Amino acid sequence: MKVNPQYNTNEALLDLYNKPLLELVFEAATVHRQHHDPKEVQMSSLLSIKTGGCPEDCGYCPQAARYHTDVDAHKLMTVESVLEQAKNAKENGSSRLCMGAAWREVRDNKDFDNVIEMVQGVNALDMEVCCTLGMMSEGQAKRLKDAGLFAYNHNLDTSADYYDDVISTREYEDRLNTIDNARKAGISVCSGGIIGMGEAVEDRIGLLMSYMQMETPPESIPINALVAVEGTPMAEQKPIEQWEMIRMVATTRIAFPESVVRLSAGRTKMNMEGQALCFMAGASSIFAGDKLLTTPNPEYNEDMEMFKILGLTPKQAFADGEKPETKEDAIIVARKEKERLREEELAAARLKVKPEGFQPRKVTIVE
Ligand code: SF4
Repeated sequence: MKVNPQYNTNEALLDLYNKPLLELVFEAATVHRQHHDPKEVQMSSLLSIKTGGCPEDCGYCPQAARYHTDVDAHKLMTVESVLEQAKNAKENGSSRLCMGAAWREVRDNKDFDNVIEMVQGVNALDMEVCCTLGMMSEGQAKRLKDAGLFAYNHNLDTSADYYDDVISTREYEDRLNTIDNARKAGISVCSGGIIGMGEAVEDRIGLLMSYMQMETPPESIPINALVAVEGTPMAEQKPIEQWEMIRMVATTRIAFPESVVRLSAGRTKMNMEGQALCFMAGASSIFAGDKLLTTPNPEYNEDMEMFKILGLTPKQAFADGEKPETKEDAIIVARKEKERLREEELAAARLKVKPEGFQPRKVTIVE
């Protein structure tokens, strides 16, 4: 994964971002065509496998427990229902499933074991599996990798300078560490940001500079527009102009020619012409389905109609990397064996208490 060295300073990136729009789009379209098939756009589905009740304070997020939004807290979905949704997403043309859990961090518990089984199951469906589960250690990343995880999403959201205005419950450094842990485990990295949170253009550039400074930039960079949700601290933010999305997509495309740029949240506020310019400028993935975690998103049918009009085709799974192998998870195997032995013990104990031919004694209650 290479960056474009011509734009590896704040000044150069800012000048690029501020170019006359059509020149910027033309340059981005040219770069895009050198590295990607411009007709192909990946359809990905984002599924909230554990919604709400999050202890973090990300100012844009309706799932933070501390904000009074209409998102209720739910338990982790079952493996079966996730696989059912994955099949459904695949039938509707998605080649990638991103599973999101509203956790501060991954914990080594039964829920994580279930996520491992979800990853194994979705990988077996020949879909790219991506997870976004909060902070994670290198060991946890390794388990996910062995389960068949294709990518881990962990957004930096904004520049290091603006970060404290958005989140106070964890540091920029924590995010960089999690990205590093995914990288060390050999998982492809998906990391991007949100624009329209009240940041300056310099912060958008700062976000991209954070990726420029990585040894290997993310393979996938989602660009989101804030969806301002009532009850969150950012509820009153004015929606950004779609031109700003186009500029951000184009700048990202040029700076990171080999990465996949994903046109993510905020598409409902864009018309088809605006989205078309984003595809022209190098976006090659959208999230399909009527929900993006908890916020609205265009319906599958609307997107298929748009693809038809624009002459786009859905990208196949694993066009940008090999399908990971699924290996047996030693922790789950050991846990299941323990459960089996416990069941056997219980069954034996039941037999002991109630030997064959056992007749309970009649008890008369004396008044
Ligand atoms: S963005 Fe993620 S970590 Fe932040 S509050 Fe929402 S669910 Fe929690």
